[in-house]
Amino acid sequence: MTETITRAVAEAMDAGDALGGCREWFTLPPGVIYLDGNSLGALPRTTSDRLARVVEDWGRDLIAGWNRHDWIGWPRRVGDRIARLIGAEPGEVIVADSTSINVFKLLAAALELNPGRRVILSEADNFPTDLHIAQGLRRLLDDAIDLRTVDARALPDALDKDVAVLMLTHVHYRTGAIHDMAALTAAARRAGALALWDLSHSAGAMPLALNRAGVDLAVGGSYKYLNGGPGAPAYLFVAERWIDRIQPALAGWMGHAQPFDFDTTYEPAPGIERLLVGTPPVLSLAALDAGLELFEAVDLRQVRSKCIALGELFRRVVTQECGGHGLRLASPADPEHCGSQVSYAHPDGYAIVQALIERRVIGDFRAPDVMRFGFAPLYVRYVDVFDAVLALRDVLQTRAWDQPRFRLRALVT
Ligand SMILES: *Cc1c(COP(=O)(O)O)cnc(C)c1O
Repeated sequence: MTETITRAVAEAMDAGDALGGCREWFTLPPGVIYLDGNSLGALPRTTSDRLARVVEDWGRDLIAGWNRHDWIGWPRRVGDRIARLIGAEPGEVIVADSTSINVFKLLAAALELNPGRRVILSEADNFPTDLHIAQGLRRLLDDAIDLRTVDARALPDALDKDVAVLMLTHVHYRTGAIHDMAALTAAARRAGALALWDLSHSAGAMPLALNRAGVDLAVGGSYKYLNGGPGAPAYLFVAERWIDRIQPALAGWMGHAQPFDFDTTYEPAPGIERLLVGTPPVLSLAALDAGLELFEAVDLRQVRSKCIALGELFRRVVTQECGGHGLRLASPADPEHCGSQVSYAHPDGYAIVQALIERRVIGDFRAPDVMRFGFAPLYVRYVDVFDAVLALRDVLQTRAWDQPRFRLRALVT
Protein backbone atom coordinates (compact mmCIF):
# COMPACT_ATOMS: atom_id res chain seq x y z
CA MET A 1 0.00 0.00 0.00
CA THR A 2 1.36 3.38 -0.90
CA GLU A 3 0.25 6.41 1.01
CA THR A 4 -2.34 8.76 -0.43
CA ILE A 5 -0.74 11.78 -2.03
CA THR A 6 -2.33 15.02 -0.89
CA ARG A 7 -1.66 18.57 -1.96
CA ALA A 8 0.31 19.03 1.26
CA VAL A 9 2.74 16.37 0.05
CA ALA A 10 3.32 18.37 -3.13
CA GLU A 11 3.73 21.56 -1.12
CA ALA A 12 6.36 19.91 1.02
CA MET A 13 8.21 18.79 -2.10
CA ASP A 14 8.24 22.41 -3.34
CA ALA A 15 9.54 23.59 0.02
CA GLY A 16 12.49 21.23 -0.29
CA ASP A 17 13.16 21.92 -3.97
CA ALA A 18 16.70 23.15 -4.67
CA LEU A 19 15.47 24.63 -7.97
CA GLY A 20 12.37 26.22 -6.47
CA GLY A 21 13.79 29.74 -6.72
CA CYS A 22 14.34 29.45 -10.49
CA ARG A 23 10.65 30.02 -11.19
CA GLU A 24 11.23 33.69 -10.32
CA TRP A 25 13.41 33.97 -13.41
CA PHE A 26 10.36 33.63 -15.64
CA THR A 27 7.26 35.62 -16.46
CA LEU A 28 4.27 33.30 -16.40
CA PRO A 29 0.65 34.35 -16.71
CA PRO A 30 -1.06 34.14 -13.30
CA GLY A 31 -3.28 31.12 -12.79
CA VAL A 32 -1.78 29.15 -15.66
CA ILE A 33 -0.25 25.73 -15.15
CA TYR A 34 2.18 25.48 -18.02
CA LEU A 35 3.03 21.91 -18.95
CA ASP A 36 4.15 22.66 -22.48
CA GLY A 37 7.65 24.02 -21.97
CA ASN A 38 8.85 21.02 -23.97
CA SER A 39 7.18 22.63 -26.99
CA LEU A 40 7.69 26.35 -26.34
CA GLY A 41 9.65 27.42 -23.29
CA ALA A 42 8.48 30.23 -21.02
CA LEU A 43 9.65 33.84 -21.23
CA PRO A 44 12.66 34.70 -19.05
CA ARG A 45 12.26 38.02 -17.23
CA THR A 46 15.54 39.27 -18.71
CA THR A 47 14.58 38.69 -22.34
CA SER A 48 12.58 41.87 -23.00
CA ASP A 49 15.32 44.18 -21.70
CA ARG A 50 17.96 42.27 -23.60
CA LEU A 51 16.00 42.58 -26.81
CA ALA A 52 15.28 46.25 -26.18
CA ARG A 53 18.98 46.93 -25.73
CA VAL A 54 19.94 45.23 -28.96
CA VAL A 55 17.18 47.07 -30.79
CA GLU A 56 18.60 50.35 -29.43
CA ASP A 57 22.07 49.33 -30.54
CA TRP A 58 20.69 48.69 -33.99
CA GLY A 59 18.99 52.10 -34.12
CA ARG A 60 22.06 53.97 -32.89
CA ASP A 61 24.92 52.09 -34.44
CA LEU A 62 23.32 50.83 -37.63
CA ILE A 63 25.73 48.74 -39.67
CA ALA A 64 28.62 49.45 -37.29
CA GLY A 65 26.88 47.16 -34.81
CA TRP A 66 28.27 44.07 -36.54
CA ASN A 67 31.76 45.02 -35.40
CA ARG A 68 31.08 47.24 -32.39
CA HIS A 69 28.88 44.64 -30.67
CA ASP A 70 30.44 41.64 -32.35
CA TRP A 71 27.06 40.54 -33.68
CA ILE A 72 28.98 38.60 -36.28
CA GLY A 73 30.56 36.47 -33.55
CA TRP A 74 27.34 35.63 -31.74
CA PRO A 75 26.55 32.32 -33.47
CA ARG A 76 29.81 30.96 -32.12
CA ARG A 77 29.63 32.68 -28.73
CA VAL A 78 26.07 31.50 -28.08
CA GLY A 79 27.06 28.08 -29.43
CA ASP A 80 29.78 27.90 -26.78
CA ARG A 81 27.14 28.41 -24.09
CA ILE A 82 25.18 25.48 -25.49
CA ALA A 83 28.35 23.37 -25.71
CA ARG A 84 28.59 23.38 -21.94
CA LEU A 85 25.05 22.02 -21.65
CA ILE A 86 25.56 19.12 -24.03
CA GLY A 87 29.02 17.89 -23.11
CA ALA A 88 30.84 19.46 -26.03
CA GLU A 89 33.91 21.69 -26.23
CA PRO A 90 33.86 25.36 -27.20
CA GLY A 91 34.21 25.55 -30.97
CA GLU A 92 32.18 22.39 -31.62
CA VAL A 93 28.76 24.05 -31.56
CA ILE A 94 27.29 26.87 -33.62
CA VAL A 95 23.87 28.49 -33.60
CA ALA A 96 22.26 28.69 -37.02
CA ASP A 97 19.10 28.12 -39.01
CA SER A 98 16.39 25.73 -37.83
CA THR A 99 16.76 22.19 -36.57
CA SER A 100 15.31 20.92 -39.84
CA ILE A 101 17.89 22.75 -41.93
CA ASN A 102 20.69 21.62 -39.65
CA VAL A 103 19.56 18.02 -40.12
CA PHE A 104 19.93 18.55 -43.86
CA LYS A 105 23.38 20.09 -43.50
CA LEU A 106 24.71 17.34 -41.25
CA LEU A 107 23.12 14.42 -43.11
CA ALA A 108 24.70 15.68 -46.31
CA ALA A 109 28.01 16.02 -44.46
CA ALA A 110 27.76 12.54 -42.95
CA LEU A 111 27.13 10.94 -46.35
CA GLU A 112 30.23 12.64 -47.71
CA LEU A 113 32.35 11.75 -44.70
CA ASN A 114 31.46 8.09 -45.10
CA PRO A 115 31.86 7.48 -48.83
CA GLY A 116 30.84 4.16 -50.30
CA ARG A 117 27.92 3.81 -47.89
CA ARG A 118 24.49 4.92 -48.93
CA VAL A 119 21.99 4.29 -46.13
CA ILE A 120 20.61 6.71 -43.54
CA LEU A 121 19.28 4.55 -40.71
CA SER A 122 16.59 5.95 -38.42
CA GLU A 123 13.72 5.04 -36.17
CA ALA A 124 10.37 4.49 -37.88
CA ASP A 125 8.54 7.06 -35.79
CA ASN A 126 11.31 9.57 -35.40
CA PHE A 127 10.19 13.20 -35.37
CA PRO A 128 8.65 13.78 -38.82
CA THR A 129 10.84 16.66 -39.95
CA ASP A 130 14.02 14.61 -39.50
CA LEU A 131 12.58 11.90 -41.75
CA HIS A 132 11.17 14.38 -44.25
CA ILE A 133 14.57 16.01 -44.63
CA ALA A 134 16.15 12.61 -45.31
CA GLN A 135 13.44 11.87 -47.87
CA GLY A 136 14.11 15.19 -49.60
CA LEU A 137 17.83 14.51 -49.68
CA ARG A 138 17.19 11.09 -51.21
CA ARG A 139 15.10 12.66 -53.96
CA LEU A 140 17.71 15.35 -54.56
CA LEU A 141 20.36 12.65 -54.95
CA ASP A 142 18.21 10.68 -57.43
CA ASP A 143 17.81 7.78 -55.03
CA ALA A 144 21.57 7.19 -54.91
CA ILE A 145 21.07 7.04 -51.13
CA ASP A 146 18.34 5.39 -49.10
CA LEU A 147 16.48 6.02 -45.86
CA ARG A 148 15.97 2.85 -43.83
CA THR A 149 13.62 3.07 -40.86
CA VAL A 150 13.06 0.36 -38.26
CA ASP A 151 11.55 0.07 -34.79
CA ALA A 152 13.79 1.22 -31.95
CA ARG A 153 14.51 -2.34 -30.83
CA ALA A 154 15.68 -3.36 -34.30
CA LEU A 155 18.22 -0.54 -34.63
CA PRO A 156 21.37 -2.43 -33.56
CA ASP A 157 20.69 -5.27 -36.01
CA ALA A 158 19.94 -2.86 -38.83
CA LEU A 159 23.42 -1.32 -38.54
CA ASP A 160 25.02 -3.16 -41.44
CA LYS A 161 27.89 -2.28 -43.77
CA ASP A 162 25.68 -0.08 -45.95
CA VAL A 163 24.79 2.37 -43.19
CA ALA A 164 26.58 5.69 -43.53
CA VAL A 165 24.83 7.45 -40.67
CA LEU A 166 22.54 6.54 -37.78
CA MET A 167 20.14 9.44 -37.24
CA LEU A 168 18.13 9.39 -34.02
CA THR A 169 16.27 11.70 -31.69
CA HIS A 170 17.56 11.21 -28.17
CA VAL A 171 14.24 11.72 -26.37
CA HIS A 172 11.14 10.68 -28.27
CA TYR A 173 8.81 13.64 -28.78
CA ARG A 174 5.60 11.70 -28.28
CA THR A 175 6.46 9.17 -25.57
CA GLY A 176 9.51 10.68 -23.88
CA ALA A 177 11.44 7.41 -24.31
CA ILE A 178 15.20 7.99 -24.03
CA HIS A 179 17.64 6.18 -26.25
CA ASP A 180 20.92 4.98 -24.81
CA MET A 181 23.07 7.49 -26.64
CA ALA A 182 26.41 6.02 -25.63
CA ALA A 183 25.47 2.44 -26.50
CA LEU A 184 23.90 3.25 -29.86
CA THR A 185 26.73 5.59 -30.81
CA ALA A 186 29.22 2.84 -29.96
CA ALA A 187 27.22 0.34 -32.00
CA ALA A 188 27.18 2.75 -34.95
CA ARG A 189 30.91 3.23 -34.70
CA ARG A 190 31.55 -0.54 -34.57
CA ALA A 191 29.47 -0.86 -37.72
CA GLY A 192 31.45 1.90 -39.41
CA ALA A 193 28.61 4.43 -39.32
CA LEU A 194 28.48 7.97 -37.98
CA ALA A 195 25.96 8.92 -35.31
CA LEU A 196 23.79 12.03 -35.71
CA TRP A 197 21.62 12.86 -32.68
CA ASP A 198 18.71 15.27 -32.46
CA LEU A 199 18.72 16.77 -28.95
CA SER A 200 15.57 18.87 -29.28
CA HIS A 201 13.81 17.20 -26.35
CA SER A 202 16.82 16.61 -24.13
CA ALA A 203 19.12 19.65 -24.06
CA GLY A 204 18.32 21.76 -21.01
CA ALA A 205 16.34 18.97 -19.36
CA MET A 206 19.19 16.61 -18.50
CA PRO A 207 22.98 16.48 -18.58
CA LEU A 208 24.33 15.30 -21.91
CA ALA A 209 27.81 14.05 -22.70
CA LEU A 210 28.24 14.09 -26.47
CA ASN A 211 32.01 13.81 -26.49
CA ARG A 212 32.15 11.21 -23.79
CA ALA A 213 29.68 9.13 -25.82
CA GLY A 214 31.78 9.61 -28.97
CA VAL A 215 28.94 11.31 -30.85
CA ASP A 216 29.92 12.55 -34.30
CA LEU A 217 27.16 15.04 -35.11
CA ALA A 218 24.15 16.57 -33.38
CA VAL A 219 21.41 19.12 -33.87
CA GLY A 220 18.81 20.64 -31.59
CA GLY A 221 16.31 23.42 -31.16
CA SER A 222 16.42 26.20 -28.63
CA TYR A 223 12.80 27.28 -28.22
CA LYS A 224 11.89 24.29 -26.03
CA TYR A 225 13.79 23.73 -22.77
CA LEU A 226 16.36 26.42 -23.62
CA ASN A 227 13.69 29.16 -23.57
CA GLY A 228 15.01 31.00 -26.62
CA GLY A 229 11.57 32.19 -27.78
CA PRO A 230 9.22 31.21 -30.60
CA GLY A 231 11.21 30.18 -33.66
CA ALA A 232 14.55 30.73 -31.90
CA PRO A 233 17.54 29.66 -34.00
CA ALA A 234 18.74 26.08 -33.66
CA TYR A 235 22.25 24.75 -33.10
CA LEU A 236 24.46 22.06 -34.47
CA PHE A 237 27.40 20.12 -33.08
CA VAL A 238 30.27 18.58 -35.01
CA ALA A 239 32.93 16.61 -33.13
CA GLU A 240 36.24 18.36 -33.47
CA ARG A 241 37.75 15.45 -35.43
CA TRP A 242 35.31 16.00 -38.30
CA ILE A 243 35.01 19.77 -38.57
CA ASP A 244 37.79 20.43 -41.03
CA ARG A 245 36.76 17.49 -43.21
CA ILE A 246 33.28 18.80 -43.91
CA GLN A 247 32.59 20.46 -47.22
CA PRO A 248 29.19 22.03 -46.53
CA ALA A 249 26.43 21.26 -49.01
CA LEU A 250 24.77 24.55 -48.11
CA ALA A 251 27.91 26.54 -48.82
CA GLY A 252 26.84 30.06 -47.92
CA TRP A 253 28.96 33.16 -47.65
CA MET A 254 28.83 33.24 -43.84
CA GLY A 255 30.57 29.87 -43.86
CA HIS A 256 33.29 31.15 -46.17
CA ALA A 257 36.83 31.56 -44.88
CA GLN A 258 36.74 35.29 -45.76
CA PRO A 259 33.15 36.40 -46.36
CA PHE A 260 34.17 40.00 -46.86
CA ASP A 261 36.72 39.26 -49.54
CA PHE A 262 33.67 38.63 -51.75
CA ASP A 263 35.53 35.84 -53.44
CA THR A 264 33.18 34.16 -55.92
CA THR A 265 34.63 30.72 -55.23
CA TYR A 266 33.65 29.02 -51.99
CA GLU A 267 36.33 28.16 -49.51
CA PRO A 268 35.14 26.87 -46.12
CA ALA A 269 36.01 28.70 -42.92
CA PRO A 270 38.55 26.80 -40.82
CA GLY A 271 36.27 26.01 -37.85
CA ILE A 272 32.67 25.21 -37.01
CA GLU A 273 31.78 28.55 -38.69
CA ARG A 274 31.85 26.73 -42.03
CA LEU A 275 28.43 25.38 -41.13
CA LEU A 276 26.91 28.83 -41.10
CA VAL A 277 24.99 29.64 -44.25
CA GLY A 278 23.57 33.17 -44.20
CA THR A 279 23.51 36.23 -41.99
CA PRO A 280 22.87 35.48 -38.30
CA PRO A 281 19.49 36.51 -36.81
CA VAL A 282 20.85 38.97 -34.27
CA LEU A 283 17.61 39.79 -32.43
CA SER A 284 16.75 36.11 -32.07
CA LEU A 285 20.27 35.35 -30.90
CA ALA A 286 19.94 38.04 -28.22
CA ALA A 287 16.75 36.45 -26.92
CA LEU A 288 18.32 33.00 -26.96
CA ASP A 289 21.37 34.26 -25.12
CA ALA A 290 19.13 35.61 -22.35
CA GLY A 291 17.52 32.17 -22.07
CA LEU A 292 20.87 30.40 -21.97
CA GLU A 293 22.34 32.76 -19.42
CA LEU A 294 19.93 31.31 -16.87
CA PHE A 295 21.52 27.89 -17.27
CA GLU A 296 24.92 29.22 -16.21
CA ALA A 297 23.74 28.98 -12.61
CA VAL A 298 22.01 25.63 -12.95
CA ASP A 299 23.25 22.12 -12.20
CA LEU A 300 21.76 19.88 -14.87
CA ARG A 301 21.92 16.87 -12.56
CA GLN A 302 19.51 18.66 -10.24
CA VAL A 303 17.37 19.50 -13.25
CA ARG A 304 17.23 15.85 -14.25
CA SER A 305 16.39 14.70 -10.70
CA LYS A 306 13.54 17.17 -10.56
CA CYS A 307 12.27 16.06 -14.00
CA ILE A 308 12.08 12.52 -12.72
CA ALA A 309 10.41 13.53 -9.48
CA LEU A 310 7.82 15.72 -11.23
CA GLY A 311 7.03 12.93 -13.69
CA GLU A 312 6.77 10.36 -10.94
CA LEU A 313 4.45 12.55 -8.89
CA PHE A 314 2.27 13.12 -11.95
CA ARG A 315 1.97 9.39 -12.70
CA ARG A 316 1.27 8.46 -9.11
CA VAL A 317 -1.44 11.08 -8.71
CA VAL A 318 -2.98 10.06 -12.06
CA THR A 319 -3.07 6.44 -10.86
CA GLN A 320 -4.59 7.56 -7.59
CA GLU A 321 -7.19 9.95 -9.00
CA CYS A 322 -7.97 9.08 -12.63
CA GLY A 323 -8.57 5.32 -12.69
CA GLY A 324 -11.35 3.87 -14.84
CA HIS A 325 -11.32 6.54 -17.51
CA GLY A 326 -9.36 4.70 -20.18
CA LEU A 327 -6.04 6.50 -19.83
CA ARG A 328 -3.12 4.41 -21.04
CA LEU A 329 0.42 5.36 -20.09
CA ALA A 330 2.27 6.03 -23.37
CA SER A 331 5.63 6.76 -21.74
CA PRO A 332 8.21 4.27 -20.50
CA ALA A 333 7.13 2.76 -17.17
CA ASP A 334 10.55 3.43 -15.64
CA PRO A 335 11.00 7.19 -15.06
CA GLU A 336 14.77 6.76 -15.48
CA HIS A 337 14.10 5.91 -19.12
CA CYS A 338 11.75 8.81 -19.70
CA GLY A 339 12.52 12.43 -20.59
CA SER A 340 10.89 15.41 -18.95
CA GLN A 341 7.33 14.58 -19.92
CA VAL A 342 4.62 12.03 -19.29
CA SER A 343 2.24 11.00 -22.05
CA TYR A 344 -1.10 9.25 -21.85
CA ALA A 345 -3.05 7.87 -24.77
CA HIS A 346 -6.82 8.28 -24.87
CA PRO A 347 -9.15 8.08 -27.89
CA ASP A 348 -10.54 11.53 -27.00
CA GLY A 349 -7.16 12.95 -26.09
CA TYR A 350 -7.49 16.01 -28.30
CA ALA A 351 -10.77 17.14 -26.73
CA ILE A 352 -9.51 16.37 -23.22
CA VAL A 353 -6.44 18.55 -23.76
CA GLN A 354 -8.65 21.36 -25.08
CA ALA A 355 -10.93 21.14 -22.05
CA LEU A 356 -7.86 21.28 -19.79
CA ILE A 357 -6.55 24.34 -21.62
CA GLU A 358 -9.89 26.05 -20.96
CA ARG A 359 -9.19 25.36 -17.29
CA ARG A 360 -5.77 26.96 -17.79
CA VAL A 361 -3.83 23.73 -17.58
CA ILE A 362 -1.74 23.79 -20.74
CA GLY A 363 -0.45 20.52 -22.13
CA ASP A 364 -0.62 19.42 -25.74
CA PHE A 365 -1.76 16.68 -28.04
CA ARG A 366 0.19 14.65 -30.56
CA ALA A 367 -1.63 12.61 -33.17
CA PRO A 368 -3.07 10.07 -33.19
CA ASP A 369 -4.14 9.92 -29.53
CA VAL A 370 -1.41 11.14 -27.19
CA MET A 371 -1.81 13.77 -24.47
CA ARG A 372 1.57 15.18 -23.55
CA PHE A 373 2.41 16.81 -20.24
CA GLY A 374 5.84 18.42 -20.13
CA PHE A 375 7.67 19.36 -16.96
CA ALA A 376 10.18 22.15 -17.48
CA PRO A 377 11.88 21.89 -14.10
CA LEU A 378 13.01 25.49 -13.85
CA TYR A 379 9.46 26.77 -13.53
CA VAL A 380 7.06 23.88 -12.96
CA ARG A 381 6.23 23.27 -9.30
CA TYR A 382 5.12 20.06 -7.63
CA VAL A 383 1.82 21.72 -6.71
CA ASP A 384 1.31 22.51 -10.39
CA VAL A 385 1.60 18.84 -11.16
CA PHE A 386 -0.81 17.95 -8.39
CA ASP A 387 -3.37 20.58 -9.42
CA ALA A 388 -3.07 19.57 -13.08
CA VAL A 389 -4.06 16.02 -12.25
CA LEU A 390 -7.08 17.19 -10.25
CA ALA A 391 -8.15 19.25 -13.27
CA LEU A 392 -7.69 16.18 -15.46
CA ARG A 393 -9.76 14.10 -13.06
CA ASP A 394 -12.51 16.69 -13.15
CA VAL A 395 -12.52 16.86 -16.95
CA LEU A 396 -12.71 13.07 -17.15
CA GLN A 397 -15.36 12.59 -14.44
CA THR A 398 -17.70 15.30 -15.71
CA ARG A 399 -17.00 14.49 -19.38
CA ALA A 400 -16.41 18.22 -19.79
CA TRP A 401 -14.37 17.41 -22.88
CA ASP A 402 -17.39 15.95 -24.68
CA GLN A 403 -18.43 19.11 -26.52
CA PRO A 404 -18.17 19.96 -30.20
CA ARG A 405 -16.05 23.05 -29.59
CA PHE A 406 -13.28 20.92 -28.08
CA ARG A 407 -13.09 18.78 -31.20
CA LEU A 408 -12.24 21.59 -33.61
CA ARG A 409 -8.62 21.16 -34.54
CA ALA A 410 -6.53 24.31 -34.53
CA LEU A 411 -3.73 24.67 -37.08
CA VAL A 412 -1.07 24.25 -34.38
CA THR A 413 -1.82 21.55 -31.78
C1 LIG B 1 10.84 20.36 -32.14
C2 LIG B 1 11.65 19.43 -32.95
C3 LIG B 1 12.12 19.79 -34.22
C4 LIG B 1 11.72 21.11 -34.80
O1 LIG B 1 12.45 21.47 -35.91
P1 LIG B 1 12.32 22.95 -36.48
O2 LIG B 1 13.15 22.94 -37.69
O3 LIG B 1 12.77 23.89 -35.42
O4 LIG B 1 10.88 23.21 -36.77
C5 LIG B 1 12.93 18.90 -34.91
N1 LIG B 1 13.23 17.69 -34.39
C6 LIG B 1 12.77 17.31 -33.17
C7 LIG B 1 13.15 15.99 -32.62
C8 LIG B 1 11.97 18.16 -32.44
O5 LIG B 1 11.49 17.78 -31.24
